[in-house]
Amino acid sequence: MVENERLRQEMRRCEAELQDLRATPAAPCPGCEHSQESAQLRDKLSQLQLEVAENKGMLSELNLEVQQKTDRLAEVELRLKDCLAEKAQEEERLSRRLRDSHETIASLRAQSPPVKYVIKTIEVESPKTKQALSESQARNQHLQEQVAMQRQVLKEMEQQLQSSHQLTMQLRAQIAMYESELERAHGQMLEEMQSLEEDKNRAIEEAFARAQVEMKAVHENLAGVRTNLLTLQPALRTLTNDYNGLKRQVRSFPLLLQEALRGVKAEIGQAIEEVNSNNQELLRKYRRELQLRKKCHNELVRLKGNIRVIARVRPVTKEDGEGPEAANAVTFDPDDDSIVHLLHKGKPVSFELDKVFSPRASQQDVFQEVQALITSCIDGFNVCIFAYGQTGAGKTYTMEGTHENPGINQRALQLLFSEVQEKASDWEYTITVSAAEIYNEVLRDLLGKEPQEKLEIRLCPDGSGQLYVPGLTEFQVQSVDDINKTCPLPRVTFLLFTVTVHFQGACLCPR
Ligand code: ADP
Ligand code: MG
Repeated sequence: MVENERLRQEMRRCEAELQDLRATPAAPCPGCEHSQESAQLRDKLSQLQLEVAENKGMLSELNLEVQQKTDRLAEVELRLKDCLAEKAQEEERLSRRLRDSHETIASLRAQSPPVKYVIKTIEVESPKTKQALSESQARNQHLQEQVAMQRQVLKEMEQQLQSSHQLTMQLRAQIAMYESELERAHGQMLEEMQSLEEDKNRAIEEAFARAQVEMKAVHENLAGVRTNLLTLQPALRTLTNDYNGLKRQVRSFPLLLQEALRGVKAEIGQAIEEVNSNNQELLRKYRRELQLRKKCHNELVRLKGNIRVIARVRPVTKEDGEGPEAANAVTFDPDDDSIVHLLHKGKPVSFELDKVFSPRASQQDVFQEVQALITSCIDGFNVCIFAYGQTGAGKTYTMEGTHENPGINQRALQLLFSEVQEKASDWEYTITVSAAEIYNEVLRDLLGKEPQEKLEIRLCPDGSGQLYVPGLTEFQVQSVDDINKTCPLPRVTFLLFTVTVHFQGACLCPR
């Protein structure tokens, strides 16, 4: 149904589009590639028309000016003619008077007696005539100048007229050019409009054809959808039935879920109880195991001796002297590693100890002998290892050793931390370190702020028989480096380690 509705809407839209296309015959087709060009051409055309109008106005102004100048020229020509006529008359008059004067002079010359008188008269009259003549000549000159000036003016005006004519011709040529351009643009525009019209018609035809094809397809689709609809109806009915069934199931789902949850909760509770009891069982077993280990340790201590004395003989040094006497001061039994022979004041003396290490024994060999005691310390037993001997006997070498070849102290610490690290996933250890010194029967705290303060050794009040030093400074440490930074061991006389062990939050054996 949705598909059907969509197709119907599409059909309606196509029809509306078709009608729109039919209803707009000459309107510029939107989005057409020529519309912009056509608008540009129209703008250009209107611009050119404006220019033509402007030029026409200019032309009429120039025509008016030419007319005015022609009128003035005619006036000037008229005045020139008058002047020329006047000049001709004046010339005529003056030449006539000159002629008269010449005739008078000639007649007077011809009459001899009154010559003197006549001559006098002439003499009197002649300057007058001469003055008149010169005046006339000056006027003539003036008039000629005027004429020349007028001619000059005329010439200028003619030139102006000519330039105006030229300008007019130019403007006319320009107007003609503009008009031809206008005509060309108009023609071009008409052509483009024609082609646009053709394009539009073609587009309309194509759109019409396309719309018809689409409509046909839509009709076919519609028919298909109708048939589909008819076939889908029974399926829809079965789906509705299924849906109703599911709805009923969903309604009853919370009840089922609650029931299932109750069951699961009960199971989980039971499992937790089981785990708890298992845990308890394990703890019980662990404690039993611990007791067993303690028993074994005690047994070991009993068998090996609670207090064990081990001798280590260092190599002979220069201070010991040279020669066979020094070399044979201490000798060993090749079959028994617990016997040592000494030469005391020339007499051989033998001692039997728990173990004797020859000068060939390495630091590792010595450590291996006491290693088990270090691990017992982690299991919660009190262990004490101390070195005794005269100065230079090798106590410091055995206990502390060198950086390249560490002794018991450093090796014990390494072992302690590596064991703790190994058990870190199941156990929680806290290792604290204290350093005390007994010197001349006085106990001093080597890590305390006041090393001069005297401390006391007391018996634990809990009746365990343990000893403790109240107020002894303790530092918690995480690694061997921490210890070496806290207290430089070569100075230390007694080093106390307190190891507290936790198993799953319960403190089992604090020591
Ligand atoms: P102590 O601390 O007892 O006074 P030291 O440990 O300082 O004596 O030893 C004195 C010297 O003998 C040191 O130079 C030390 O390196 C050397 N020495 C001691 N024991 C050994 C040994 N087992 N192997 C090599 N050298 C040793
Ligand atoms: Mg020493």
